[in-house]
Amino acid sequence: MSRVVAIDGPAGSGKSTVARAVAAALGLEVLDTGAMYRAVTLAVLAAGADPADPEACAAAARSVRIDLGARVVLDGRDVTEAIRGPEVTAAVSAVSAHPAVREVLVGHQRAWAEAHGGAVVEGRDIGTVVFPHAALKVFLTASDEERARRRARDEAAADRTADVAAVQADLARRDRLDAGRAASPLVAAPDAVPVDSTDRTIDDVVRSIVDEFRRREAVA
Ligand code: C5P
Repeated sequence: MSRVVAIDGPAGSGKSTVARAVAAALGLEVLDTGAMYRAVTLAVLAAGADPADPEACAAAARSVRIDLGARVVLDGRDVTEAIRGPEVTAAVSAVSAHPAVREVLVGHQRAWAEAHGGAVVEGRDIGTVVFPHAALKVFLTASDEERARRRARDEAAADRTADVAAVQADLARRDRLDAGRAASPLVAAPDAVPVDSTDRTIDDVVRSIVDEFRRREAVA
């Protein structure tokens, strides 16, 4: 798809903030694919199913309806806050490791971007698997300490307990699972632009991505 910006990277690297600002600058919608994996995980837990059970997770992925906009709506229920809770965060990497779950969600992601005339899509496998022909692929990183600090700040803002050391340990756990899985592991596409946001302002990072997208569009 021509007007797709793929933004991949580990948790806490600033993907959501950067994706929103890039989308606003380019007049595109944002698709937060992590929210989709989180919504399926919430459905798995609500059904009392085991996140390690591939069939149960695939059945949940196939049967739910997820609407993504300003809010995340799962089968008609607003789950925007619920999908960020500790139970979902603890189980989401296990649920998203099942190839059958990914197959269902990747299909939705491609259809969504097609219907919206392109999008800024953030996740783990967007540049490698979902949109290998994206106009621009960014692999966003930040140091482990900085990612933990940012996540702890987000948690505190949402009134959840946030011990930086515990957050850092949890991010490391998820990174290990996401990067180590067989299906669509977290890895930079060979043609992704690496962006380290550790010592840069959001504005600076956003500007460089928007400029690069416009430069590519101009020569296309
Ligand atoms: O982006 P966020 O941290 O909310 O993603 C939650 C989890 O969803 C990730 O840790 C990963 O296990 C999974 N995920 C994925 N593929 C994506 C996006 C998220 O496997 N494209």
